[in-house]
Amino acid sequence: MERSVIHNLIAALPVAVVAVDHEARVSAANVAASALLGENLTDRPFVTVLRHPVVVQAVDAVLDPAHVSLPVPDPTLAAVGSGGYRNRVIISARGRDIPAEVTVSALPDRIGALVVIEDSSGIEEAEQQRRDFVANVSHELRTPLTAMIGFIETLRGPARDDAAARDRFLSIMETEAARMNRLVMDLLSLSRVESEERRRPAEAVDLTMIIGAVVATLTPHAEAHNVNISLIGAENEALVTGDPDQLTQVFHNLVENAVKYGGSGGEVRLELSRIRHEPALRGPAIAVAVIDRGEGIDEMHLPRLTERFYRVDNHRSRQQGGTGLGLAIVKHIIGRHRGRLRIESVKGQGSRFTVILPAKRDRR
Ligand code: ADP
Repeated sequence: MERSVIHNLIAALPVAVVAVDHEARVSAANVAASALLGENLTDRPFVTVLRHPVVVQAVDAVLDPAHVSLPVPDPTLAAVGSGGYRNRVIISARGRDIPAEVTVSALPDRIGALVVIEDSSGIEEAEQQRRDFVANVSHELRTPLTAMIGFIETLRGPARDDAAARDRFLSIMETEAARMNRLVMDLLSLSRVESEERRRPAEAVDLTMIIGAVVATLTPHAEAHNVNISLIGAENEALVTGDPDQLTQVFHNLVENAVKYGGSGGEVRLELSRIRHEPALRGPAIAVAVIDRGEGIDEMHLPRLTERFYRVDNHRSRQQGGTGLGLAIVKHIIGRHRGRLRIESVKGQGSRFTVILPAKRDRR
């Protein structure tokens, strides 16, 4: 195969690829390789580009199979195909350690070696996130379960004939069981939203109706907490393209939080407004702000608030029956709707959670 053909092929590949000639110099490298390993790779000795001993050893073996002690390869070096090697290594590139899957194979007509480097940091990060998530869920479930097991033992033993204790323990157990139930529902909800995230919703939805219904549902709950909910700007239809159940869940979670954490201010206000041109969405939008006059949130927490299980005050959230998943669900639903969530808060003054969704365009 012509060298120029090989170079064009390498240039077209989306993964980092470096070709090495018989002098062990780089004869070609593509854009992805430059992004990973640095600019101006061509003509440099390969060892100065990717110094990892296992990879260098594999390149030597491919370039000169007769003269290298391989194949009695490094035990971590897996052979692939004819005269090729594949391995997971940590490479140092641009001052960072990057986990990568590196494959070294012979070029046609023995004109050199081809080194393919697949950056696996994204995969490792995802695996780490999954492990953290499982650990978090287990911890969240274990806390109420441990409490319940303790109460059951006490009810069977020392408090067997104590009617007052029995009532009190049963009521705590009921609360804990309800919280576990909510946690499971929220987890299912989150996984459903995530699995649908790439599918854009298609229905025409009137946000005025949605927030009106949420306010009606939560008014008794708010009244029980001495909070008044008001609705501003929701006189006319406000159409977006969306999923009505999911959008209901968004506003339900935000208003519930405003009552729960911002209720000390005595009022929660929902403001619907129309934006002729929202730069972040490059078009007309509808914004709904959920505003409370409660205690507010310290600025340092704001960037992490929508992470799963992130809470400003763990004890308080749990005491209120919170799962720590409400805002994570909100974020994913808004993401699916190609919208934005803005969180502004001033400690001691209150918070404003604004949902901005692209307005449905007229097809006339
Ligand atoms: P939770 O189940 O704990 O309510 P969320 O994901 O809904 O979980 O909220 C995460 C955290 O954000 C809460 O634990 C609380 O600390 C904080 N938070 C949410 N909304 C408000 C608000 N309106 N005012 C103050 N803090 C809030």
